[in-house]
Amino acid sequence: MSTTPEQHTTGDGTRVVRAGLPEPEAYRPSMPGPVFAAHYHLPGEPVGPYTYGREQNPTWTLLEQAIGELESPDEAAETVVFPSGMGAISAVVFSQVSAGDVVVLPDDGYQALPLIRERLEAYGVEVRTAPTAGEAQLAQLEGAKLLWIESPSNPGLDVCDIRRLADAAHRAGAVVAVDNTLATPLGQRPLDLGADFSVASGTKALTGHGDVLLGYVTCRDPERAAGVRQWRRTAGAIVGPMEAWLAHRSLATLQLRVDRQAATALALAEALLERPDVTGVRHPGLPGDPAHRVAARQMRGGRYGCVVSFVLDGRERAERFLSALRLVDDATSFGGVRSTAERRGRWGGDAVPEGFVRFSVGVEDAPDLIADVLGALDASDR
Ligand SMILES: *Cc1c(COP(=O)(O)O)cnc(C)c1O
Repeated sequence: MSTTPEQHTTGDGTRVVRAGLPEPEAYRPSMPGPVFAAHYHLPGEPVGPYTYGREQNPTWTLLEQAIGELESPDEAAETVVFPSGMGAISAVVFSQVSAGDVVVLPDDGYQALPLIRERLEAYGVEVRTAPTAGEAQLAQLEGAKLLWIESPSNPGLDVCDIRRLADAAHRAGAVVAVDNTLATPLGQRPLDLGADFSVASGTKALTGHGDVLLGYVTCRDPERAAGVRQWRRTAGAIVGPMEAWLAHRSLATLQLRVDRQAATALALAEALLERPDVTGVRHPGLPGDPAHRVAARQMRGGRYGCVVSFVLDGRERAERFLSALRLVDDATSFGGVRSTAERRGRWGGDAVPEGFVRFSVGVEDAPDLIADVLGALDASDR
């Protein structure tokens, strides 16, 4: 009688420490250092893998390999890295659509999406918008070329059913891109849920130290990947080798960071729910959160992200709260090892109340962080 060996799939923690590393070679480092090169020795025909620094770089190659292994471990995919999340978003949008096309964007997504909208409209592309939560996107898909999804959304933390929307978009002939910044590939795999592109800002939780800007695009269709690569060549939006190397180095701790941050974020959200002076507490991991049901179905490993949002009574209360925090920097961005928080309304780009706080949970000890937050709430409650 033959027995089938038990299927063993690699765990995320195991995968991240080796992602993108070359085969071990005697007397070589396990992770090669950054390659600084504007050009490469190139005798004869000018074909790759490495010709000129705007086209390829061995440090990008390893990082792209690593991110691809995390976004799409079970199916071949290509990743193209960019110097920022906006670089990656622009590459997908502007490589996939032309004048006369229709694009559907979220109306509550990342605050720079309106800049994309402005540019698209100037180029003769019709832009329709829909909120992330609910299914209003479905009514906008007719004739669309591209559906852009951000789930969970920043800063509102709404989610949408990626598989359902991707199926509907494909039936309508549209390609689907998902901004996976908040979840990271360990928290969500958009390509497995039917999306054509997973796009993210690696500036946030992916690299997690607040010292690098990065973006990437992962997709399985080689032709679409080639289009994105061609856009990078055209725009010249390339990441520096040092930044690419730092990003790759930081991936080894991705599972440790996102697990710790998600667990503390949930504990903080639960503590905030107990406070009568805090309203509108949102975190997709909260069982009672409007986003939880869909998030639980499509996100992975209980990793609902490091962001908690909530509302204090007015701008001044929020400002007093932020300045009373001792362990939390008043700063934008999210996903870093050090907790940050900000009054989101100060940027003017998001439709949020004046007292809306976006809180990014770092890797501090949860009891210390929660005590700091509760103490700052008490101190600012006058
Ligand atoms: C920060 C962010 C971006 C933009 O990324 P940059 O690296 O700052 O260019 C895009 N999408 C989301 C959801 C973000 O949070």
